[in-house]
Amino acid sequence: MRKYIRKNILELEPYSTARDEFQGTGISVWLDANESPYNNGANRYPDPHQKELKKRVARMTGISSDCIFIGGAGSDEAIDVAFRIFCEPGKDNVIAIAPSYGVYKVAATINNVEVREVLLNEDFSLPADRILDATDSNSKIIWICSPNNPTGNAFPKEEILEIAHRFKGIVIVDEAYADFSDKGSMLDKINSVENLIVLRTFSKAWGLAGLRAGMAFASAEIIGFFDRVKYPYNMSSLVQEELLHRMEQGTGNHITEIKSERHRMAKALEEAPCVLKVYPSDANFLLVKVKDADHLYNYLAENGVLVRDRSRMPLCDNSLRITIGTPEENAATISLIQQFK
Ligand SMILES: *Cc1c(COP(=O)(O)O)cnc(C)c1O
Repeated sequence: MRKYIRKNILELEPYSTARDEFQGTGISVWLDANESPYNNGANRYPDPHQKELKKRVARMTGISSDCIFIGGAGSDEAIDVAFRIFCEPGKDNVIAIAPSYGVYKVAATINNVEVREVLLNEDFSLPADRILDATDSNSKIIWICSPNNPTGNAFPKEEILEIAHRFKGIVIVDEAYADFSDKGSMLDKINSVENLIVLRTFSKAWGLAGLRAGMAFASAEIIGFFDRVKYPYNMSSLVQEELLHRMEQGTGNHITEIKSERHRMAKALEEAPCVLKVYPSDANFLLVKVKDADHLYNYLAENGVLVRDRSRMPLCDNSLRITIGTPEENAATISLIQQFK
């Protein structure tokens, strides 16, 4: 495992606090961190190890706490930290599928790491051989987003496992949308596949995009490096408390409702004259190929509905990505699209 880690990170002496160093009990006066002593609900530094939160996530997922990283800028933080752990700037490269989530490329560029994009097959399936062919001895990460954004499809687990098995580097599976998929998750593989990292987020199915909270799951050894490289206080105490509270409440029945709305919306849009194809979706959005995406996009915006035009992405010409909204929002959007000429 250690051979995939940058030398400076292997040698890193991480920031530590007096509260890390003092393992005993019985302290009631906290004069170690130059905080304000006046309790206003946020005067103390948050737990840098997010122990309570990790315990709760462990209970929810069945993954042990030392295999969980919590990111305080969403899973986007985990993406950036992964580049900093594994990729030597100006030397190493990563492989990403295309089209896919844009943050991998932005984070790579910020870290001065080359991205080799491998086009999905025409039917959006995973080109395992071409992905592996694109690697060389400086390839450190293969990014696989599943279900993929913006195509909406989840890739078969066996294909991802085969790539992880054949690749001498790290495979990161971004499962931001897995809660909306019936095709399962790679989470239960992190203990047996040592080069696998799975990303999850509170932003989609949990409905907490505004809190900025994401998760990475991997072997305890890999997660140890995430914890050393992250900013020590990467999640505020208020967010940690709010997440604990929300996890107590659960996601409600919104996932079921969004999945049934996705089905209803796909059926309805297939009937619309301007729609050429609605791609199957394992996520909370639909990718829809239309006759004239620019026109439809502008027409929807003029009528108060903003969608995402993905037409400039590879394999996505004339395609709009439409998030599943409330039943009322979906009905209004369907009716606008049906009327569009
Ligand atoms: C929305 C999304 C995320 C979530 O990012 P956060 O930083 O956790 O909000 C991650 N990956 C993909 C592919 C997404 O579409």
